[in-house]
Amino acid sequence: MDQAIQKGDAIMGASRRLIAATGWKMNNDAAATRRYAAELYQRLAGLRVGSLELYVLPPFTSLAAAAAAFAPGPVAIGAQNMHAEDAGAWTGEVSAPMLVEAGCRYVELAHSERLAHFGETYELVRRKLNAALRHGLVPILCLGETAEDRTAGRADAVLCAQLDTALADQPAERIADAILAYEPRWAIGAAAAASPEHVAARHGAIRAQVARRWGAAAAAAVRIIYGGSVTPANGGALVALADVDGLFVGRAAWTAAGYAAMIDVVSRAATIKGVPT
Ligand code: PEP
Repeated sequence: MDQAIQKGDAIMGASRRLIAATGWKMNNDAAATRRYAAELYQRLAGLRVGSLELYVLPPFTSLAAAAAAFAPGPVAIGAQNMHAEDAGAWTGEVSAPMLVEAGCRYVELAHSERLAHFGETYELVRRKLNAALRHGLVPILCLGETAEDRTAGRADAVLCAQLDTALADQPAERIADAILAYEPRWAIGAAAAASPEHVAARHGAIRAQVARRWGAAAAAAVRIIYGGSVTPANGGALVALADVDGLFVGRAAWTAAGYAAMIDVVSRAATIKGVPT
């Protein structure tokens, strides 16, 4: 992996803290969460975690177990979704203040499964993102083109439209309070991740759009992480890229051993990119 990382590639990202994160989807009940945390702590003892930003996104019903188990740090917790309103007649929903009370620091928004199976739109995501920021949560804003978009050559246009819609209400100084997650919809739960060339081009396009719309300082500060079929084998070459500020992992980090392996990959990249670990 180390050979895949060239110092010159990393100049732009040198000051941005790298992220190793995982979303568990509908996996890991409370007991499994406690086992995961106990094993992860054992494995973290052998790793250089330093200033890496680490978080797991359990299902709602495992948040209490996760908050207790991960209380010593350095792994923070977040949710996979939230409602845009703070309270009210929204049966089955959970609000930003409730997530804060549950110990969440992060909330994932616009995951492709929310868009595909629950009818979410980026207009709705904008309202959720506004509420998340208002309550001090860090929104992880997923951006991604479909396979059809990619084939039609409109991936960057789609990503820019998603970005512009979801962040429409935010001033330049709030942009880096969110984390952008490039997750090509065709690469999620797939056999292979997007290629480093594809990821470099899309992350570059997203950062360029942030610069155009919110200015150079926001573009230099905002973290853009990659997700979609990341594994310890392919993650090193992806997180080595200048505009990639971390990895967002599904299946490969649903076990503590898998997440520890991904943290190790990001930690090695941080050393080579010159981000303190
Ligand atoms: C995801 O669902 O956001 C994801 C990245 O999943 P996987 O790593 O399993 O493709």
